[in-house]
Amino acid sequence: MPRRLRYKRVLLKLSGEAFGPRGSAGIDLAEVAKIAAQIDSVSRKVELAVVVGGGNIIRGAQFSERGMNRATADHMGMVATVLNALALQDALERRGVETRVMSAISMEDLCEPYIRRRAIRHLERKRVVILAAGTGNPYFTTDTTAALRATEIGAQALLKATQVDGVYSADPRKVKSAKRYDALTYMDVLKGRLKVMDATAISLCMDNALPILVFDSHVPGN
Ligand code: UDP
Repeated sequence: MPRRLRYKRVLLKLSGEAFGPRGSAGIDLAEVAKIAAQIDSVSRKVELAVVVGGGNIIRGAQFSERGMNRATADHMGMVATVLNALALQDALERRGVETRVMSAISMEDLCEPYIRRRAIRHLERKRVVILAAGTGNPYFTTDTTAALRATEIGAQALLKATQVDGVYSADPRKVKSAKRYDALTYMDVLKGRLKVMDATAISLCMDNALPILVFDSHVPGN
């Protein structure tokens, strides 16, 4: 029997890592096609907004550690998310999925500006809305963007796609004894400094009682 979905509208956070060739920078179109196939099936069941990261191309903090002005580095990071967003839009459109990219930094020749009411309208019309350029502000992350936009558009859950099958006390790919948690409160994550999402994102979810569901993006069907 098909499982009944509890949610009408959700926001999916996809890290840049999901778009990249394993272990190196850039965009792997085969990976993007796999993501698009999963999004295609999910978007038939729920209204879906997607926040894309840019870590496969640029992480602002890493460039600023090497001397670059932090705001400039973060602007580059936000532009990187637009590249992933356009790749995802293309892969979805090739499957016939109606999609809109909305950017927090205006790039009107490429995509729409992010306007909350318009994003909601697209979702109501069953279009997949890809949210690019983070919050538009330096010093933030796309995890925080996901928490913020999920709250703004009235999503009932934030789906956080990761590289492992849940939240662990340490990176299970590096630490064999890492413990996996079935469920956690927001405070557990903050106090334990668990790396699932940054503290700003977790606090925002806590303040707005937004549940976060963490899953392995490499398992088809998840
Ligand atoms: N970024 C930013 N403000 C935002 C969101 C992102 O400045 O609101 C920049 C920041 O430099 C970040 C980069 O964009 O490192 C890519 O985003 P993120 O690191 O969150 O991507 P992910 O880790 O999800 O791939």
